[in-house]
Amino acid sequence: MKQYITKAENGFVDASWLNGIKDSLNGGKVLFHIYTGISDREILIALMNTLREAFPSCNVVGTESGGEIREGSLMDKGILISCLVFESTEISVRIYDGLAGQERMIGSRIREEIDGEVSHDLKAVELLLPGALLNTLDMYEELKHCDPSVVIFGGYAGNHDADLENAFVMADGKTYANACVAILYYGKDFRIDAAKSAGWEKLGMPFKITSAEGNLLREINGIPAADIYQRYLNIAVDDDFIDNTNEFPIAAYVGDEEILRHTNTVMEDGSLLLAGSVLEGWDMYLTFGNPTGIIEEVNRRLKQIHAFNPQAILLYSCYVRKLFWERFVNVELEPFQKIAPSAGFNTFGEVLRNMKTGEIMEYNITLLSIAMREGDAEPREDAVPYADDAILSGQSSLIKRLAKLVSSSTMEIQNAYRNLEAMNEQLKYASEHDTLTGLYNRGRTEELIEEMMRESRETKKTTSLIMFDIDHFKKVNDTYGHRKGDKVLREIAEIAESMLDAEKGEAAGRWGGEEFFIVLLDNESVSGREFAERFRRAVEEHDFGDGLRITVSLGVMDVTGNEEPKHVYAQIDDALYEAKENGRNRTIEVK
Ligand code: GH3
Ligand code: MG
Ligand code: MG
Repeated sequence: MKQYITKAENGFVDASWLNGIKDSLNGGKVLFHIYTGISDREILIALMNTLREAFPSCNVVGTESGGEIREGSLMDKGILISCLVFESTEISVRIYDGLAGQERMIGSRIREEIDGEVSHDLKAVELLLPGALLNTLDMYEELKHCDPSVVIFGGYAGNHDADLENAFVMADGKTYANACVAILYYGKDFRIDAAKSAGWEKLGMPFKITSAEGNLLREINGIPAADIYQRYLNIAVDDDFIDNTNEFPIAAYVGDEEILRHTNTVMEDGSLLLAGSVLEGWDMYLTFGNPTGIIEEVNRRLKQIHAFNPQAILLYSCYVRKLFWERFVNVELEPFQKIAPSAGFNTFGEVLRNMKTGEIMEYNITLLSIAMREGDAEPREDAVPYADDAILSGQSSLIKRLAKLVSSSTMEIQNAYRNLEAMNEQLKYASEHDTLTGLYNRGRTEELIEEMMRESRETKKTTSLIMFDIDHFKKVNDTYGHRKGDKVLREIAEIAESMLDAEKGEAAGRWGGEEFFIVLLDNESVSGREFAERFRRAVEEHDFGDGLRITVSLGVMDVTGNEEPKHVYAQIDDALYEAKENGRNRTIEVK
């Protein structure tokens, strides 16, 4: 395959360019992509018709763009044409109109289409989507179930003013503001390697998304999302909010996927309307663009593409990257052109299937590089081109140094934060547990009993409380030594724990030296008394080693939650005393 690229000044395409393609044509399929910064639909329809007249069996697709990437550099606002000429690959274009409100249904239609065509060597599907506020997440929910071998990639339309309201895509000589255009690539010899590069770096603390719906991010860590920008970056909610937050997008982490999200609009209540959806419960960070990190990621990708040795490259790169790089934007685009002819556009959402999970991911701020070829590649002899960030000298080297400062201090903050979290957890554990037996300690046991009594009161279910004391324990210490005594305490704790279901809220605690509590909430299958007896027998039957046998005495009480805790403890204590008085190794229930 080959890729030819040209600019269509005022919508006119150079006849000699078209003739050059015709001369090299060998009966293969022709696919035109139009990436346009000019929104005049009449001009574009005329251009599509010119191309269709010149190549009657070709396909023409296109999209309105926030920037046109021509052979490794962003051109002045205009109309860019890429012509892919294949040898054996087949192309088919489908238009799914009426997308808004029918995203799920259209997703399932595309899925059926794909599954029906896999046997005909369908390898990849490109999606061009209008930039209107679509719920495409619903579409991807369906689409992710399509045959796992099919690569899916694409981008969302928008214009140079980032106006997504009226953005349109093109196909078959028409423009569509509410349709998804799908381009199907078929063929035994067709090879594709599509991947993403982002490279933004985490900044500061991790946050949790605590309230979100679709593209609307309401709350982070329980406060309005915009407040996070105010608090940590001193960015106020004013007319400049979007410009100011551009450099600090949100990154969410879903499994090993990093998903960047750019803010399109800030609402009065501090909610953020993002350029893609997020879900409650996602971990997220604020990020910042560190040129060095971004370039490193592009360079990693260049190595892969070079090894793949494509015949054509499509670059679908987020509009925000253009804003980020400003006059340096070509630094990350030029090297691709050294590998193969490249063309593409600045997108408002980048689409790429995760081939491991099958999920269709929608990214922001990401550079998609889609490398294509026909047949197997010969190894390349030339050196791998790389993006050279040395060009970012002068003023931007200051940015680089500050970025380095921020990223290394962020790393240190994150490590400190992780240590602090771990220490807090250890402290909390230590404050609630008994070191010898690992059971809850006295303080936590009392708390738990009161919590259970409160729950009993609310749910009208009873709580059973069991207090037990080891019989003649002094003798154990005197005969076998204190260490053996400790071991007996641990083993008795283990017996109790093995009989309890922590998921049902059942728990045991150490009340004092060799006195313990067991708490059971509304045990329907077994009463508190029955459980106490079962436990008493388990201890009686347990072999503590060295011929040692141990028994326990128990007091039991069922409570409704309306009792005074102090009174409850006194009553159980009395029952336990009675069990001791009556010969030990028995259970007495408070009536
Ligand atoms: P009774 O049947 O009346 O309960 O007799 P007893 O010997 O168990 O009497 P008492 O409750 O007065 O004795 C408790 C003994 O438990 C005293 C103390 O040395 C021992 N003890 C308390 N805590 C520990 C501990 O952590 N380890 C060991 N080894 N012994 C302990
Ligand atoms: Mg005692
Ligand atoms: Mg005792």
